Amino acid sequence: MENQGKKMLESAQALIKKTAEKLGLKEEMIRRLIEPEMVYEFSFPVKMDNGQVRILKGWRIQHNSALGPYKGGIRFHPETVREEVQALATLMTIKCAVAGLPYGGGKGGVAIDPKKLSSAELERLSREYVKKIAHFIGEDVDVPAPDVNTNPQIMAWMIDEYQKIKGYQSKATFTGKPVSMGGSLGRTEATGRGGVIVLKALLSELVKDGSTKILSRLNSSLTLLKQKVSKNFVSPSFNNQKLKSNNEITIAVQGFGNVGYYFAKIASEAGFKVVAVSDSKGAIIKPKGDKLEALDIPLVMECKKEKGTLAGCYCAGGVCDTKGGKTITNEELLELPVDILVPAALENVINDKNMKNIKAKIIIEMANGPVTEEAYEYLSKKGVIIVPDVLANSGGVTVSYLEWVQNKAGYYWSEEEVNSKLEVMMKKAFEAIWEKASKKKIPLKQAAFEVALEKIVSAMV
Ligand code: GLU
Repeated sequence: MENQGKKMLESAQALIKKTAEKLGLKEEMIRRLIEPEMVYEFSFPVKMDNGQVRILKGWRIQHNSALGPYKGGIRFHPETVREEVQALATLMTIKCAVAGLPYGGGKGGVAIDPKKLSSAELERLSREYVKKIAHFIGEDVDVPAPDVNTNPQIMAWMIDEYQKIKGYQSKATFTGKPVSMGGSLGRTEATGRGGVIVLKALLSELVKDGSTKILSRLNSSLTLLKQKVSKNFVSPSFNNQKLKSNNEITIAVQGFGNVGYYFAKIASEAGFKVVAVSDSKGAIIKPKGDKLEALDIPLVMECKKEKGTLAGCYCAGGVCDTKGGKTITNEELLELPVDILVPAALENVINDKNMKNIKAKIIIEMANGPVTEEAYEYLSKKGVIIVPDVLANSGGVTVSYLEWVQNKAGYYWSEEEVNSKLEVMMKKAFEAIWEKASKKKIPLKQAAFEVALEKIVSAMV
């Protein structure tokens, strides 16, 4: 994983360098955009239930604060290393700028497998981690949030510990909190919801007649998808619309955590045909002849809750069983003949080993860094449209921002209000990037980095 983290960091830095050079930035400015402003690496003790004390390694990396306080999640993962946290902090700087938020980028992590901890151990770990970072975070300094394997409950322990250390209320210092502790309605679903908003915005551009400059690079299978989308749209504007005829545009989602689950659920509600989902143990599909049937996402979730994993789990007609369903591996899911592929788990899953077998025409990067640089280049050249993580999954940090605003104002919005603000902000972010990509005939990722760097640099003196 050290190598994986290193690779991810190198590719984020290389992309910044390449973009910055294209924008004609000076060498010292490029260095400032690449180097993190602060790197905190520490170890800390956590008492286990059996009385033993484990010494854990943790990080908080503050990458860039030109646009505002550092913002970004904290992940608990056994393979987390410094390079990975730094890469993710760098991507947060770009993501916040792409999303139009008044934030810089940061990220935190602890090298631990939280799935092997009891709830009491997890609480002690969360509180000990905060003791380490409390002195250099704050609502106008650095605002952490959930990431891989962390959730509202963990944010609740963290904000509680933070306020005890400080001796005053400061709800806005953490986002992604439970609603009862100042969290925002709609935050839990926000990343998945944002991904679906971006997917719809993309499809609506694909069917617009005059706006197909970027489509000149399209391959024939994407043209087929375009026809499918046109046929299924009530109107090309797609505003809050469901697809006309259900079950036409197929999606496979890798990852059934907070991000993957809500993406799959909201996409099916919008009329897409979600035909495969997976968790870390495996994937499920329901084949019928040479086609794949739609999965009932809420039922699949119920089944996962009951059985612990998705593997071997299939729910049909309210009954959970394996009849009609089939278990495949995560690798096989990525290679399914679907229209849209949504990697929503971990980084580097689409890489030089499987890129030639990817059949989807659109990839929505809901995880951070799921497509390696090599695969990105190969697939883009082939005409696959890849919506980059810094745009596709920015719904989470966008609603984190809305939570922060509500905490600071002491005034709270309804879920509908939050969702409609999210939609407006995501569409605006998408449009800026689409426009740049179409105008310059460059992939969306490159366009996203250009849009972000222009904003960041203009705020740096
Ligand atoms: N961890 C999420 C991300 O990677 C959310 C960060 C936040 O809300 O600050 O975007």
